[in-house]
Amino acid sequence: MVSYFDDGLGHTAQQQAVRDAVGEICAEFDDSYWREHDAAGEYPHEFVEALADEGWLGVLLPEEYGGKGLGTPEAVAMMYEIARQGAGFSGAQTVHAAIYNSAPILNYGSDELKDDLLPRVAEGDAWIQCFSLTEPEAGSDSTAMTTSAERDGDEYVIDGEKLWTSRIDVSDYLVLAARTTPKEEVEKRTEGVSLFLVDIERAHEAGQIELEEIDKTASGMVSSFRVTYDGLRVPAERLIGEEDRGFYHVLDGLNEERLVIAAEAVGLGELAVEKGAAYASEREVFGRPIGQNQAVQHPLAAAMARLQAAKRLTFDAADHADERERKAVGAWANAAKYLAAEAAFEGADAAVQAHGGRGIDRAYDVERYFREARLTRLVPITQELALNYLGENALELPRSY
Ligand SMILES: Cc1cc2nc3c(=O)[nH]c(=O)nc-3n(C[C@H](O)[C@H](O)[C@H](O)COP(=O)(O)OP(=O)(O)OC[C@H]3O[C@@H](n4cnc5c(N)ncnc54)[C@H](O)[C@@H]3O)c2cc1C
Repeated sequence: MVSYFDDGLGHTAQQQAVRDAVGEICAEFDDSYWREHDAAGEYPHEFVEALADEGWLGVLLPEEYGGKGLGTPEAVAMMYEIARQGAGFSGAQTVHAAIYNSAPILNYGSDELKDDLLPRVAEGDAWIQCFSLTEPEAGSDSTAMTTSAERDGDEYVIDGEKLWTSRIDVSDYLVLAARTTPKEEVEKRTEGVSLFLVDIERAHEAGQIELEEIDKTASGMVSSFRVTYDGLRVPAERLIGEEDRGFYHVLDGLNEERLVIAAEAVGLGELAVEKGAAYASEREVFGRPIGQNQAVQHPLAAAMARLQAAKRLTFDAADHADERERKAVGAWANAAKYLAAEAAFEGADAAVQAHGGRGIDRAYDVERYFREARLTRLVPITQELALNYLGENALELPRSY
């Protein structure tokens, strides 16, 4: 495909350098690699290790910890490139959390925790791929969580159940959100939550954690679990930041992360449209390429146009994230996430339709893109919750959630 929409204009030199370097790694993993891992439900260890070896899991960590010391504009470029080159949203999700889960530790963790952990994360020797927040009952209303953490001497004892905890099977540590003060006893529902760094192997050995894998249909490379924490004992020095302030620690940086999610969705959408267009050029029915029919051409072209709008919004918002206050970044990030997921879904749907029956043949990849694009409308927050945020914060309408 011609590169009108990917001519590098608008990128900083650093963003382009990130895309080039990460792109070189991605080029070693072709479509069949992603297809086979998705079908087998296998985590792409070789890919993640290749990125880790080059220090990309530490893209946001300061150089003093061995990280690359880069920021949101570069993270957006990196994750866009990964999705766009064939990994899609699911492939991007195999490393996304590794980059973002260390943020609360960097921003709020004790010096001991930072010194112990962050250099290992930057080196790719310690994986914190897992964030355990969502609960079966609370769902999107995450502050309604009931998982509790009670102080007992120099430990916390944690009990509760989480749903959709992903990548716990490929992590050394997980970040766990639990209530140190029940919701009924706090003034604001965002208070009373704390974050803990959990050593997963230790929890298994002590028999204080139980996993049940969820049999899901999208994002096969990432496994998700229902997790029961049963008297899990966590040393007090593994509390991340301040007790009862954990939800605020999560919120800080969440909007920037959402921009990266949007970039991943755009990359996936472009990938799907490109595949759809390539197939539509080759496939001949009624004696001509199907792509000559506007009924096939227009949905792909319209999706590509919308993807460009979402991409511009995403990259622009990332470029200015440091200059805006948190709620403003949130408005841009939720708008970007909403538009990117809709455009990705539209693009993937058009690509499936252009493939006719082959649209659901795994060998053509577009069915995988479609499943992933559908997922972008659900995670990390649903489209409705993104709109709720915009309604409340950008339009000053009454809070609806
Ligand atoms: C593949 C996958 C991986 C995930 N990985 C993780 C992970 O690693 N860690 C983690 O903690 N979580 C993870 N999640 C959980 C994810 O963040 C939640 O699924 C998501 O936030 C939605 O919560 P829910 O599924 O409980 O839906 P619900 O909250 O039950 O919502 C159901 C529907 O109702 C709508 N709805 C609810 N309330 C409102 C409202 N007030 N206004 C408008 N609409 C509303 C929602 O938008 C949605 O359409 C993952 C989910 C999936 C599917």
